Amino acid sequence: MIVVMQKGCAEQDVNNVVAHIEKRPGLKAHLSRGEERTVVGVIGQTFPELKDELELLEGVSEVVPISKPYKLASREVQVDDTRLQVGSAVIGGNQVVVMAGPCSVENEKQVLETALAVKAAGAQVLRGGAFKPRSSPYSFRGLGVQGLRFLAKAREETGLPVITEVMTAEDVELVATYADILQIGARNVQNFILLDAVGKLRKPVVLKRGFATPYEEWLLASEYILAGGNRQVILCERGIRTFETYTRNTLDLASIPVIRRLSHLPIMADPSHGTGKWHLVAPLAVAAVAAGAHGLLIEVHPNPDQALSDGAQSLTFDNFRKLMDNVRAVAQALGRTAGPPAESIRPRG
Ligand code: PEP
Ligand code: MN
Repeated sequence: MIVVMQKGCAEQDVNNVVAHIEKRPGLKAHLSRGEERTVVGVIGQTFPELKDELELLEGVSEVVPISKPYKLASREVQVDDTRLQVGSAVIGGNQVVVMAGPCSVENEKQVLETALAVKAAGAQVLRGGAFKPRSSPYSFRGLGVQGLRFLAKAREETGLPVITEVMTAEDVELVATYADILQIGARNVQNFILLDAVGKLRKPVVLKRGFATPYEEWLLASEYILAGGNRQVILCERGIRTFETYTRNTLDLASIPVIRRLSHLPIMADPSHGTGKWHLVAPLAVAAVAAGAHGLLIEVHPNPDQALSDGAQSLTFDNFRKLMDNVRAVAQALGRTAGPPAESIRPRG
């Protein structure tokens, strides 16, 4: 349930409500101060009498049961959009934040060259996989720690923050020492031990949708991270399995406005994995922005035909520049911006 406080109520009233909730074993209070109202979420197994008790407290406007199984992720608990700052990017606001780079980190030169190219085109975060989930055990599975080091080096050279995937709970600490944003891949969306582990961090986490994950289960997965105390969760639609075989997955564009309606969490789109074909990436990227995506995750490679993973869906530098031009145009048409604010594109030093 949520406790809606009266507009302009005293700080002490809010504290009393929090204390009343937290004196019950197993219950926690979650405070959300919006522009319009302050809401205290009651997290845990509640009981009917609690509603009456809370309604009697000073400063309380009303007590409303939360209708959804996920709570911290819901709009009911937090009305205003969550905004996260990473480097020059504010994710969850008016800016369309583009994270781009190779599917896999292959060597130092490849990742640095790509970082420089995507930065020049307007990307604000560098992506690159060091621990790769692959359908076949014989495919390239990533450089591991060496890959993380190359990403850190590229960040040093370019100033771009880095996003990379973490596949196991045991690796969370290690990956978090290198990454600015941790990615949970589609295959791990319901790896609850891993979700608990990243819930202990105080760093942004991008949680991808699984191949067959309904919105509610996806939001419940995000709830694991939020319930651990990590409020920096970004959702990413990356396509789901359907009967269609022409495309690798079916990018569910409706998920973007649906998630924005149900949740305050930022939502991005990954048209690279969402389509599996490079020539479909730009059209779906602009469509995702038009649908309200807060950001994009795009695979870019200096030579897609030689990529060790996902070459077919990777953009050349030139095609990425064209994509950014279209993304900027659509963002502007909708009163939004794409790419870093003007002052942060000036050369450093
Ligand atoms: C990736 O981003 O390279 C990746 C493996 O994505 P997904 O988990 O969406 O398949
Ligand atoms: Mn990939």
